[in-house]
Amino acid sequence: REPKPQEDLQAIIDDIYRELTPRLGEGKVADYIPQLARVDAGHFGMAIVTTGGEVYRVGDAEMPFSIQSISKVFTLTLALGKHGENIWNRVGREPSGSAFNSIVQLEHEGGKPRNPFINAGAIRISDLILAGHTPKELIGEIVRFVRYLADDENIVIDHEVARSETATGYRNIALANFMRSFGRLDHPVEHVLGVYFHHCALAMTCSQLAKAGLFLAAGGTNPLTGHSVVSRQRARRINALMLTCGHYDGSGDFAYRVGLPGKSGVGGGIMAVAPGKASIAVWSPGLNDYGNSLLGSLALEMLAARTGWSVFGP
Ligand code: GLN
Repeated sequence: REPKPQEDLQAIIDDIYRELTPRLGEGKVADYIPQLARVDAGHFGMAIVTTGGEVYRVGDAEMPFSIQSISKVFTLTLALGKHGENIWNRVGREPSGSAFNSIVQLEHEGGKPRNPFINAGAIRISDLILAGHTPKELIGEIVRFVRYLADDENIVIDHEVARSETATGYRNIALANFMRSFGRLDHPVEHVLGVYFHHCALAMTCSQLAKAGLFLAAGGTNPLTGHSVVSRQRARRINALMLTCGHYDGSGDFAYRVGLPGKSGVGGGIMAVAPGKASIAVWSPGLNDYGNSLLGSLALEMLAARTGWSVFGP
């Protein structure tokens, strides 16, 4: 059944929240970044911004959380803007079928990461957009870009999280050095990781994140601000990458259950796009075995079922 969208959306997300309330705290909070291990697993928030500009919120939708890998959508967008389709000589665009922080495939493919959303690929994207900048300038540019997308000057980086990951990010340091050993990084490892750890540490609310993703639901232009961010074709292509690679080795499961492009982060956030309809952000810190938000995925599955939103058919 197709609900009458607008007036029903608030009721739908209120119901989802009510139904999930007994399960809040399920899943496992990421603990390999000490600062994330401290987050209360019981949070849950959701925000929907429609292409018509209506905003719906429930739970902790106004509480900032660490967006982590969701930021990779924004750095990919910047990289495409700076270097166009040339980036695909440096990073692939195939699903990896392995964990977000896996190193194995890099060895078999000459240090070229499978896609821009696994850690290795996003680290390479940070390297590509560093061209002509100092790390500090680039971090500033990324923050300004995200503020522009969300039309919100209050978005900031949580420097405690960035510091925490810099101190313990052994796996990412290994990935960067491994790529470097294949001659696959153009800038010093410390500079590249400085950029990467800082964009992962952006703190945003569900409302801000849903607004920042709205251009992807609306053919590349943010209908709230009129800002033209990317072309229609590029918006479709970024959505295609989110659908195929946005949840790592859980991407097939997410596509099957939710049927919308989405990007997750180990902070427990997911940004999803219902093309032509809405941009959605959900946050629940407990993760499933793939490192994607357990209840966040479930909430999006419920939302898609109840709205009929899907990229696979009416
Ligand atoms: N900053 C995190 C890391 O590199 C991002 C991973 C994620 O959100 N999946 O491990």
